[in-house]
Amino acid sequence: MSARSLPNLARQRVVVPAVIGRCKLDGDPIRTGEATVWLTDPMGLSHVECKQRADAATGGGA
Ligand SMILES: [Zn+2]
Repeated sequence: MSARSLPNLARQRVVVPAVIGRCKLDGDPIRTGEATVWLTDPMGLSHVECKQRADAATGGGA
């Protein structure tokens, strides 16, 4: 009886960042390591980029 070597599938493991939420502004998943900002209107988490784009679209004034 010979010892079989198992196929080493673990080496092919792809690391996918965990999804921690969903962007309030564009609806895309927010993943670990992405820059995020907490909005108050609408209430929720969004990408910093999306927040800046939204601010620019509204003129940045309140
Ligand atoms: Zn976004």
